[in-house]
Amino acid sequence: MEPILDNNRKWVKEQRAADPDFFNRLADGQQPKYLFIGCSDSRVPASAITGTGPGEMFVHRNIANMVVHTDFNMLSVLQYAVEVLGVQDIIVCGHYGCGGVAAAASNKQYGLIDNWLTNIRDVIRVHEMEFLRISDDDLRLRRLVELNVIEQVRNLAKTSIIQNARKTSKPPRLHGLVYDIKEGLLTDLDVEDDMISELNHIYGTSAQQYAAQVVEQETDQSSLTAGKPELTDEQSEPEKPRKGEQRVARQNQQAD
Ligand SMILES: [Zn+2]
Repeated sequence: MEPILDNNRKWVKEQRAADPDFFNRLADGQQPKYLFIGCSDSRVPASAITGTGPGEMFVHRNIANMVVHTDFNMLSVLQYAVEVLGVQDIIVCGHYGCGGVAAAASNKQYGLIDNWLTNIRDVIRVHEMEFLRISDDDLRLRRLVELNVIEQVRNLAKTSIIQNARKTSKPPRLHGLVYDIKEGLLTDLDVEDDMISELNHIYGTSAQQYAAQVVEQETDQSSLTAGKPELTDEQSEPEKPRKGEQRVARQNQQAD
């Protein structure tokens, strides 16, 4: 532990020399503009790679930068950041070479963590054909890192906290970034805001209103096919995706 404490003393000395008021100012409180949700990986230090200092970025990290709707730790951080600190931008930051993402796509089991990794396997499920069509192992995992970030940004948009914030005059903007450990560079994946907004009809408070439109459309379609002979179970056509599922598929194509 000695190197850690020595480094701390050295850092305090340097900070005081550069800015005598540095610690007093921070002690007064924080008003960070950003919430950063990143991976716990030691090679992805949130402040260093974004050039932000103390007081500028609220940070939550977990294995593979996940936004899981039953994770009360993440939800508490998100609520506090949005409703109390009033952050303006929320960043989900993945990174190439992510061990969590690689583990989720591997053929091994790791114990308890497999249940966490199941959330990444859900990302594979949603984008399975794109994932499988990439023949190069490294490129496939790199794309999975990006798809995971995109889905975690969508997961953010689904939370009651972001849904409610969107009813206010200054909702936070959501971003998906990926960090390249080899290059040290961040890339914005440009997760489209209108695509995220399309989730509102389900994850906001208008799901029943939307359901009424689906029923209406399905009734119209069934009256058009009323003259067709009925199929037996063996012959029956595969169930067509509902409108919401088609919409998600379209979003996925847009993101691909
Ligand atoms: Zn990682």
